[in-house]
Amino acid sequence: MFKDMQIQDLKPRTKAISEMITTYQKEGISNRELEEKIKSSYSLWNDILYIYDKNGKLTIRVEGNTDVKMNKDQKLHIDNEISKTFEKYLPMILSGKHIQSNEGLLTLVGEPILDKGAVVGAVFLSKPPEELRTAFFGFRGSVLLSAFGVFLLMIFPVYKVAKHITNPLKDMQSIAMEMAHGNLTLKANESYKGEIGELGQSLNYLSSKLSETISDLKIERNRLKQIIDGLSEGIIATDSKGNITHINPAIFDVFNTSKEKEPIEILPVKEIWEDFDIVLSKGYAIARNIEWNHNILRVTICPLEDEMNEIAGAVALFQDITALERLEKTRREYVANVSHELRTPISALRALLETIIDGMVTDEEAKKRYYNHMLHETMRLSRLINDLLTLSRLQTDSISIDNEEFAIGEIMANVAERYSVLANEKGIKFSFALPPEDLVVMSNMDLVEQVIIIILDNAIKYTKAGGSVSLYAGLESSSVKISVADTGMGIYPDDLPHVFERFYKSDKARVSQGTGLGLAIAYEIIHQLNGSIFVDSIPEKGSIFTFTLPMTSID
Ligand code: ADP
Repeated sequence: MFKDMQIQDLKPRTKAISEMITTYQKEGISNRELEEKIKSSYSLWNDILYIYDKNGKLTIRVEGNTDVKMNKDQKLHIDNEISKTFEKYLPMILSGKHIQSNEGLLTLVGEPILDKGAVVGAVFLSKPPEELRTAFFGFRGSVLLSAFGVFLLMIFPVYKVAKHITNPLKDMQSIAMEMAHGNLTLKANESYKGEIGELGQSLNYLSSKLSETISDLKIERNRLKQIIDGLSEGIIATDSKGNITHINPAIFDVFNTSKEKEPIEILPVKEIWEDFDIVLSKGYAIARNIEWNHNILRVTICPLEDEMNEIAGAVALFQDITALERLEKTRREYVANVSHELRTPISALRALLETIIDGMVTDEEAKKRYYNHMLHETMRLSRLINDLLTLSRLQTDSISIDNEEFAIGEIMANVAERYSVLANEKGIKFSFALPPEDLVVMSNMDLVEQVIIIILDNAIKYTKAGGSVSLYAGLESSSVKISVADTGMGIYPDDLPHVFERFYKSDKARVSQGTGLGLAIAYEIIHQLNGSIFVDSIPEKGSIFTFTLPMTSID
């Protein structure tokens, strides 16, 4: 565009020069005079003028007052460049054509010199490249300068407007950051006009909703913490790296440790930590039983997953199953014992019956003996079943016991009378000290009699001929004490704590006729009667079984 302007500038002047030359040539002026005339009238122009004759020979070259300072070499170089371009167009002008062109940075206009319609030469007017460049850069410079001016002018109002918009936004941003850090007490300014005010309202709404949700979550978390802390089972939770994140107080009771200790001291079982590693790496639950301080603990470790189903940690539950295990063991032993006790008489009965059926026993005397054995075994079976029923009835909490006031001496005398005969038969010296009449108890007569019989029966059973058994009673604070002492085989200290257990027999070969349930029944009865029963014994010397009964009313 700039170059087009140059051409428009050069065009009329080229035309004028061409016409001027025609006029002067008509007057027969020499080239030298023509050059002088042109120079004098042309010195105002910043262009370069070239005049060629009709043979294409450069006759005049006039340079205008260019601002560009060039040395000689530069001038020559440009001249050559321009001449080359002109020579390209010269034949066209000499054939009468008008030329205007942009050759690179060079702008040129060419005009034929006419004399009576015939071409007698050519005029080129051109803006040299340096001039052009200077002009161009000058233009660019002025554009830049004005742009800079506009920039300087605008800087303040733009700054003002930008500040007006960015300041509230900055406020909102800092409040949002504070909220992100958990400070929800701050309020955004809602008084700004337009969208920024609305943004402030939205931020405040967001913060109020957030604080509501957080407070709900806190309440929920505290409730959960109370529940977990109140559990009797121990709980340890870890993060995905196995670092402890939560422990409930029950753990410290179980392992007798404190919170301040290292993880391995808090939970001093290496296997559990290994289980934690497996659960965290494999993602499945593991359960195992461990023994700790004579207790059996059931440890169940489960993985904890986040929303992305990634393992975020693990939680271990420690349940004390000692009582459960003991109960299960007792149940198993009970079933085994009952089966064993039932099998013995049944096997004996079966063997006796088979012998009779096979006709092996022929004489009447032997048959009678066999029947006697069978009767004996049947009675043993029935005794066992009766004992089992009695025990199970006593262990049922719902049984009701009718109590009455009676003198303990009365029952003791009654039993002593019967058992003195038995003792004497066995060659055992039996003694009975009748207690005073005012030794009265509030209890159940039948059950008390049953207990006396059980321990008296045992005393006679486990005392050899020549020994002695005595039955006596006494008073101790508000209880009546009834004791049976014997000089029999006694009980070894290892067996002593177990004699009141079901099916316990210190005779490990179990050849004795007893069921092993007698003392268990006595123990249950005495506890139902709110008394206590205990034993003192020295092996090979003898035993003293004592039970107490409350004297006063127990309603
Ligand atoms: P059993 O029917 O076998 O006598 P008990 O429950 O009455 O069953 O007694 C349990 C065990 O206690 C007996 O097997 C016996 O070993 C021991 N025992 C009980 N009383 C005496 C005693 N007076 N002297 C020695 N041992 C006894």
